[in-house]
Amino acid sequence: MMDVDTAGAVAFAAELVRIRSVHEPAAGTAEAPVAKLVELRMRDFGWDPVVEEVAPGRPNVIAVLDGGGGPGTTLMLEGHTDVVTEGDRSSWSFDPYAADVVDGRLRGRGSADMKSGLAAMLYAAKAVVDAGAFPGRLVVAALVDEEGLMLGAKAFAASALAAEIDGVICGEPEAGEICAVSKGAIRLKAAFTGAMAHGAMPQHARNPLPVASAYLQAAQRVQEDLQREHGEHEHLGQVYLTPTVLSGGDVDQINVIPGEALVCLDVRTVPGVDHEALVQRLTDLAETFGADAGVTAEVTVVDDRPPVDTPTSHPMITALADAHQQVTGESAVFGGVPGATDGTILTAHAAIPSVVYGPGGKWIAHQADETVEVAEIETCARVYAVAALRYLHSEA
Ligand SMILES: [Zn+2]
Repeated sequence: MMDVDTAGAVAFAAELVRIRSVHEPAAGTAEAPVAKLVELRMRDFGWDPVVEEVAPGRPNVIAVLDGGGGPGTTLMLEGHTDVVTEGDRSSWSFDPYAADVVDGRLRGRGSADMKSGLAAMLYAAKAVVDAGAFPGRLVVAALVDEEGLMLGAKAFAASALAAEIDGVICGEPEAGEICAVSKGAIRLKAAFTGAMAHGAMPQHARNPLPVASAYLQAAQRVQEDLQREHGEHEHLGQVYLTPTVLSGGDVDQINVIPGEALVCLDVRTVPGVDHEALVQRLTDLAETFGADAGVTAEVTVVDDRPPVDTPTSHPMITALADAHQQVTGESAVFGGVPGATDGTILTAHAAIPSVVYGPGGKWIAHQADETVEVAEIETCARVYAVAALRYLHSEA
């Protein structure tokens, strides 16, 4: 087997965790210091990464490694450099940025999501390069803003290089499961505008609140229809349309009928749900309810991320499954990603087949006391390396 410097990967993951790469404009923090560390490590490896600012202080770092073994496919290993905030520090039982190893676990914000995955990918790619010439290319990318609006992935998807990529492995924490499917997501705002009036004279009002209420109930019915139509996905469960914002009126002015109300929906879909048709249906409903009450409805899609459904027969995925088996001695377990990842964007915007596989528990991300098992980082680094070589050679 290839010689992967797993100790190096673990140490590098710890270095990354020590930097608080939360995108917090008020505090002036973002991904740049972590991106710099990634860039410098790539240069230490003898690579020549490209650093592209997607927004001020928010650079993508991308290395293209030509195998020198002739033409072939291009495989991308992708991770993100941002982390979510640690939140209330008193809910942590250790310093979220100490990045110490205790009882075989690397601890800290971003240890699982996903600085260990990113470190494992860098060291896996290094092992592949060190093992000699290979056909095709490896692309190692550390992108910004996965936890936000995925600006890094969107910028990359729009680049010329994206069109040349045949498959991408995203190193998000999935507990060693190979996740070829991810749920889709739509963030939708329905703004209802009527006419304000005195509470004593509702006949002069066009009250948006009952419209908002009817809309919420309609969304519930749409959810039931879609759940009936699509059933329970093996790895992704049900379709959900969850109301997350309902606002309108003023508690200090109960005698005032408000002119405006807002409903926001967090929609989570499975493969097979037509996002365009669904948004159209939700728009029509808002407009119909509004029209009946003389209220204008404006539906805005804030973000639209289609589901990912990469066939498990894709050679990148069979290579990953074979590599997992070879490295761990156990057969691969397939799963699904409940949220969206950078892979969602890369698949939706650039038609790159994506799969998610990385160290760390599925549910630990974004929680207090985030940790990752060191052994999992080591395993993933080896699996990435073996999978990359198998895939690049299989397609040659
Ligand atoms: Zn993540």
